[in-house]
Amino acid sequence: CFITFEGGEGAGKSTQIARLAASLRAGADGRAGAREVVTTREPGGSPRAERIRSAVLSGVAKPYGPFAEALLFAAARLDHLATLIRPSLARGAVVLCDRFGDSTRAYQGAAGGVEPGTLSALERVVVGPTRPDLTLILDLPPEIGLARARQRDRAAARGPDRFEAEALGFHQRLRAAFLAIAAAEPARCAVIDAQGSPDTVAAAIREAVAARLPH
Ligand code: C5P
Repeated sequence: CFITFEGGEGAGKSTQIARLAASLRAGADGRAGAREVVTTREPGGSPRAERIRSAVLSGVAKPYGPFAEALLFAAARLDHLATLIRPSLARGAVVLCDRFGDSTRAYQGAAGGVEPGTLSALERVVVGPTRPDLTLILDLPPEIGLARARQRDRAAARGPDRFEAEALGFHQRLRAAFLAIAAAEPARCAVIDAQGSPDTVAAAIREAVAARLPH
C-alpha cells in the first residue's frame, strides 16, 4: 500500500510520517499485527535521487526553468521508484512517501507554470501504474507554515532553501493547487488540517488511513 504526504512548507510532513510509521509498525491502527513500513521522501529517496535533490535545491538548476526542474525530479523519481518504492510494494510493505507527483503538479505546474498536460505525460512515462493508494494533504495557511519552516531552519543552523525563499504569493498558489487536486480526486486524497498540535494531526491522519484503507 502506497501512501503519500503532500503540503506546503512547514506543514509537518516529516513529523507526521514518523508518527504514522510508528503507529503502523506497532499495529496501533487496530489491524492484525505489525507490518513492514518503509518511509521515504521526494525529491530524493534513493542515493542517486538524493544527489539530484541536493543539486536542484542548491539552486543550480534555477536558470533552466521549472520544466527542466520537473525533468530532473522525474529522473530522480525514476530511480527512486525502481530501487526503493516498487521493490518495497512488491514485498507487501506499506510505503510512506514525503511528497510525490502532487508536489510536481503544485510546484512546477501551478506555481512554476509548466502545462498540466506536459506533467501528466511525464507522469505516465515515469510513474506508470505505481500511483498512490492514498494521499494525505496537510493543509495550513502559508504564513504559519513558513514561520514553522524558518524556525526549523534556524534550529538546524541553515538558511532557507530556494523554494522557501519565494514570495508569499507563490506559497498561496501552492496551497490552492493542493486543495484543487484534493477536490478533483476525492477518492485518493484526504485533506488534513495541519494547524493543530502534532498529536491532533497524527490522530486525524490515523483516522483517515483507517477509513480509507480498511484492510
Ligand atoms: O518536503 P521538503 O520541504 O523537504 O521539500 C524540499 C523542497 O523541494 C521544498 O522546499 C519544496 O519546495 C521543493 N520541491 C519542489 N518541487 C517538487 C518537490 C519539492 O520544488 N516537485
